[in-house]
Order: sequence, then C-alpha cells, then structure tokens
Amino acid sequence: MSTPVTLTFLGGAGTVTGSKFLLTGGDRRVLVDAGLFQGLKRLRLRNRAPFAVDPALLDDVLLTHAHADHTAYLPALVKHGMSAPVHATRPTLELADIVLRDAAHLQMLATGDAIRGGYSKHADPRPLYDLDDVEATLPLMRPRPFDDDVDLGAGVTARWTRAGHILGSASVHVTVGDTTVLFSGDLGRSTHPMLRPRQTPPAARTVLVESTYGSRLHIEPEGPAHEVLAEAVSTTIRGGGQVIIPAFAIDRTEAVLHALADMMAEGRIPVTPVVVDSPMSLRVLDVYRSHPDEMVEPTGSEWLQRIPDLRLTPSTAESKALNDDHRPMIIVSSSGMCEGGRVLHHLARALPHRRNCVVLTGYQAAGTRGRSLAEGSRRIKLFGRYTPVAARVVSDGEFSVHADADDLIAWLADLPAEPETVYIVHGEQRSSQALQERIEQELGWTAVVPTMDEVVRVD
Ligand SMILES: [Zn+2]
Repeated sequence: MSTPVTLTFLGGAGTVTGSKFLLTGGDRRVLVDAGLFQGLKRLRLRNRAPFAVDPALLDDVLLTHAHADHTAYLPALVKHGMSAPVHATRPTLELADIVLRDAAHLQMLATGDAIRGGYSKHADPRPLYDLDDVEATLPLMRPRPFDDDVDLGAGVTARWTRAGHILGSASVHVTVGDTTVLFSGDLGRSTHPMLRPRQTPPAARTVLVESTYGSRLHIEPEGPAHEVLAEAVSTTIRGGGQVIIPAFAIDRTEAVLHALADMMAEGRIPVTPVVVDSPMSLRVLDVYRSHPDEMVEPTGSEWLQRIPDLRLTPSTAESKALNDDHRPMIIVSSSGMCEGGRVLHHLARALPHRRNCVVLTGYQAAGTRGRSLAEGSRRIKLFGRYTPVAARVVSDGEFSVHADADDLIAWLADLPAEPETVYIVHGEQRSSQALQERIEQELGWTAVVPTMDEVVRVD
C-alpha cells in the first residue's frame, strides 16, 4: 500500500479511559478498541460528541479486551451507523456481551434516577445508547484465535497475543500494507493468580504501550499476600461490622474470592459469610468457569469451595434483603470505582458507621467516588445526597492486574526488534511522562506521549 497510513489517537491519550485508535490506510479504516470515556466530566462529554469519522465508513473494529474503557463505545457507533465486524478473542467477546449490556443498563438507570430525583445536570438526560443498540452490536462480533494471523482483506491482517490482564485479553498486532502497528492493550503483571501469563507479541514498526502504572512500582509484600485485606477483614468482622469490597465484576471479583478462599483455608481470617452481590459479577464468574484452557491450573473454579459460606445473590429481592442484615459479613459488589451498581446501596448503608470497613481493590480513576474514598474524603455523593464517611477505608494495592513500570519496560524490552516509535497511551499525564523518560533512558528508543486527537504517520 503506497498511500500514507495514519494513526489517530481518539482516546486513551492523557487519560486511562476511552481507548480508541483509528488506523487509516487508503480507503481502509480500522478502529482498535472502542472505549467509553469515564470519570471527569470534560472527558465524559466526549462520549456525546460526534465521532471523528462517519461510523458507517469503518471497515473493521479490533478489540484488545472486554473492559468498558476499551469496548463500551461500540453500541454508540452502531447507533450512528456502524456495521463493521468486531474482531476479538472468544472470551473477550463473551465478556463484552456482559459489559455492553451492563453499560446500557447503567446508563438507563442513571438517567432514570436523575430524572426521578431531579438532580440531573441536563435538561433532557438521555442515555448514550440503550439495550436495543447493544442487541444490534452483538451480531457484528467475530471470535478470533490467539497466536494466528487473521486476514481481514485488502492487505490488513491482525494477530492477538495473550496479555495476561483479564480473561481473553490480548495485544493486537496489525499489518496494514507494508507497515505494522502493535497495540499493547492493557498488560497484566508477569504472573496472574488464575490466568495464563502474557506472551511476547511480534515486532512492529510502531508500538503503542499502556501506561496506567507508568510511574509506579507494585510493592511486593514482604509477608503473606494481601495482608491489608486480611487485617481489615479480621478486625472488622471481630468488631461486629461488615466489610464492603467494591470490585470490578471482571477478574477482580474472581481474584478477591480467590484471595479470601486462600485466607479462610489458611486460617488467616475468620470463616465468615461471603456475599457476591452483583448480577454482572456472577455472569462473569460463569465465563471464567467456562474457559479452563485459559487458566494456570485447569481446575476451573474448584478453589471457590474453600469459602464454606459463599452466597450468590442474582435477584434484586435477595440483594435488598441484605439491607436489613447487619450481621458481620463480607460483601463483594461492583462497580469497582463505586460509579454504579449494587455497591452504591451497600456504601450508602455502611459508610456512616465506624464499625464497617470498605476495602478498595484497585486503580481508582480521577473523578470517581472510589478516588474520593481513597483520598480520605469525609463525605461522598450517593443517589443525589451526601453520605458521611465514618467507616474505615483501606486500599489493597496487590490486586492490580496492570503491569507496573518495570513490567512495562520488560514487555517492551522483550519485543523481537526495536520499533521506530513508541507511543505511550492509556495513562494519566504524569504516568505517561514517567514511562517516556524511562523508555528513552533505559532502552534509548524514541518515545512520545501523544495528545488527544493527534494524527501521526506510521507508514
Ligand atoms: Zn483493562
């Protein structure tokens, strides 16, 4: 292909949300990831702005993994005319089905609540898309294998390599004519408690690398794993309180349950009822159970049996019954950044009381309630009113499924050849810049932090 090939950073530039990268060569337009902007209002407003090109003109969409900040803009594109196939690994598509339905549900719910409560900031709050738009998106999905070149026609091929971040996650290597671009997607740590580890993708002329933790190093615990969680659970349960664990439905809920199961088996925490109160988390748990090939130990989810009193509450009635149950227990519920879902009800009930504890289990983006709690805010806004925070709030940073700065450098250094340019994406400004400095100093490569909507040539 002799025409220029360009890459446009439509999201995930200077932010960890809204990942969208448009590759254009000749008349081919390939979108890699279709993430929703979350958190800060100035970013969320971009979800409602017209897309950079007419969505009907997109030829293919390639997904790295199922997280909403990489997939949940898809139904908005379909609503506005997109009919391109959406390619990803099979587990990613199974999880994306859940993620997109949930995203539509949350938007419709938030819109309804805002109208009824009269606290909407918009005169006419309408969801970005609804379940019908999601139903129109699902038939476009095409499952693709790991580690195989998939011919998408007109000189475009794509290959998915395990990224060890969540089930199905991959880095995507794209060939357009004579040029190659590698999208890291979100990268996991070198090991994962349940999933097969990430692998080294093929070399590419241009590499995009995520930088969520570009300025940070995970602290390896000197003693036993997850001591913060173990101490918080033991202290709170013995004091007669409840432990609320906001956890992302995908992977984090599995990892939290895995850790709790270990701790109970080892006698590090009291045997206590554990409630998973999130319909989405339960659906995700089923997908994890159905892909034993992707697990380190192909035993599916036998470890779940190490939690003697595990309660799964799919129905709203069962969830509501928890409101009147003040006995000591552990409630795992989503969303992980406290931006929606049933966890909001548990927080509203638990936060005003000192006996309870909230354990945050991951990255909390700027502008989210989770970030406010992590930063020690004494009040957060729930259902249109401010709720005092008297409960203890702790963060267990060991649950991260994101590579830290050392992991990111190692992933780059392992690539079979030096790229011409590395673009550092999917990080807040400080993280991206810190990683840029390390890449330049330690690898001696050209590293750039692109700005939102920047266009670069990659041919
Ligand atoms: Zn992710």
